[in-house]
Amino acid sequence: MSDRDMKRIGLMSVSAKRVLVTGGAGFLGSHLCERLLGFGHEVLCVDNYYTGRRQNVAHLLENPRFELMRHDVTFPLYVEVDQIYNLACPASPIHYQYDPVATTKTSVHGAINMLGLAKRLRARVLQASTSEVYGDPTIHPQTEAYWGNVNPIGRRSCYDEGKRCAETLFFDYHRQHRLEIKVARIFNTYGPRMHPQDGRVVSNFIIQALEGRPITIYGEGKQTRSFCFVSDMIDGLAGLMETPSEITGPMNIGNPAEMTIRELAEAVIAKTGSRSKLVFEPLPSDDPMQRQPDISFARRIMGWEPKVTLSEGLDATIGYFDRLLTAGGHIGSAVGEAS
Ligand code: NAD
Ligand code: UDP
Repeated sequence: MSDRDMKRIGLMSVSAKRVLVTGGAGFLGSHLCERLLGFGHEVLCVDNYYTGRRQNVAHLLENPRFELMRHDVTFPLYVEVDQIYNLACPASPIHYQYDPVATTKTSVHGAINMLGLAKRLRARVLQASTSEVYGDPTIHPQTEAYWGNVNPIGRRSCYDEGKRCAETLFFDYHRQHRLEIKVARIFNTYGPRMHPQDGRVVSNFIIQALEGRPITIYGEGKQTRSFCFVSDMIDGLAGLMETPSEITGPMNIGNPAEMTIRELAEAVIAKTGSRSKLVFEPLPSDDPMQRQPDISFARRIMGWEPKVTLSEGLDATIGYFDRLLTAGGHIGSAVGEAS
């Protein structure tokens, strides 16, 4: 039966899939749900609203191919889908350190539950891993072959080690149960719908600049990061999911344009025309000194590379936070707001 015939009798097109996105009401998850609906898929968005918000996906609720479910991935989930994107996990340091035990449980039990679901369904499953698996890296830029330099007992360990253990589980399910897996190592990503109080550097600096408050640089601001705009990240994640089954990753996805945190602060001040002053505060423990993805693997396999410049990305993100502040100044609570 052709796609056209399928549509005529009210069935989905053969290429359209039922896709589960855990953490779908979060920053990246909401953009991913939007993109997958745009591809014609049915999307089941699962979230417990720990750091995500219903308002991030409110505009998708009218779409008959979109379904929203409150669920905590540390508990088993019984649904029928063709693909799974596992994004559920608090991602910003203040959020994942708020309840570190819950963070590790979400990464590890969440991975076990999603892998178990994928195994029952023989579904392809993608894990949102992180550049944090490299810890405070001793090689630069970071390639996927690097095993990392992670403190197992520090404040960031609940996240770093939880994500590392999730990667182990993904590869063991692949080897032991022949599961089709994709592991994406996501580097710092920013853009509209970041949680305004998640304490991440881009949202912090923009909100501080817009409100004319001091820009808080931790340490001397010499540490580096490489910032990827959200639309490029979503291209990368959706692209990785569609790679041939022998491609498992791990695959770095991020923007290699590296800069110091001080340079970022200056860029935000220049863009917003703010009079905010820079203030220097203590560097949090285990804060990585440098981070830059080597994206040769993603380039070679998917022909993927970021397209959005920092200048364009900052314009879009500043516009988003400006509208949010103008709309009443409510920027929510740090964790657990379910609005
Ligand atoms: P986010 O906090 O906006 O999104 C995470 C989502 O997961 C939220 O909607 C939250 O409510 C949900 N969640 C948390 N615990 C849950 C649980 N137990 N059950 C169900 N839902 C739960 O963060 P984000 O930036 O969108 O990150 C998404 C994913 O990408 C995370 O796994 C994160 O580790 C990974 N990642 C993000 C970045 C980045 O820079 N944004 C970098 C590296 C990795
Ligand atoms: N940072 C900062 N001021 C802030 C927030 C963060 O200087 O108000 C620094 C932080 O110490 C780190 C970098 O910016 O070196 C990126 O921090 P973020 O929390 O965004 O991400 P991560 O550390 O997980 O890469």
